[in-house]
Amino acid sequence: MQEPFYKDGLHFECQRCSGCCRFESGYVFLSHQDLDRLALKLSMTREEFLEKYCVKVDMGGVFRISLIEKENCDCIFWRDGGCAVYDARPLQCRSYPFWESQLKSKEDWESLESSCPGVNKGRLHSKAEIEEWLALRKMEKLITI
Ligand code: SF4
Ligand code: SF4
Repeated sequence: MQEPFYKDGLHFECQRCSGCCRFESGYVFLSHQDLDRLALKLSMTREEFLEKYCVKVDMGGVFRISLIEKENCDCIFWRDGGCAVYDARPLQCRSYPFWESQLKSKEDWESLESSCPGVNKGRLHSKAEIEEWLALRKMEKLITI
């Protein structure tokens, strides 16, 4: 089997620009594990968390659950210069930028540089680490309704 382009690892280190948490509208989809972790972090039930912080997103037949945004498009949990639920943040956030969609080709990875200044900087993440993120994303099933 052909080795992936990231066989020697990829450099990434978050520069804390908040670009992926703010300014642009987007979805942060939750898995069942995400919901459990976030609800526990905020001492809420799953139902209370869903009611207060989530929105249903029509994916064309099925609905997914996403965190809501503020009026200015910031994530609801972006506060005082950072993520208010950092240690319990959803897997979608924790695994960024090692997403399948960004790792299809070297070009896809390189194209991220313009939106994420942490790409190709700092620590080297091994192929094994990258593939662990990919596997986790596959294992953690997103909530669908
Ligand atoms: S866009 Fe990249 S560098 Fe900026 S906060 Fe997000 S992960 Fe970090
Ligand atoms: S949950 Fe935290 S890390 Fe994820 S988008 Fe919101 S503020 Fe950013």
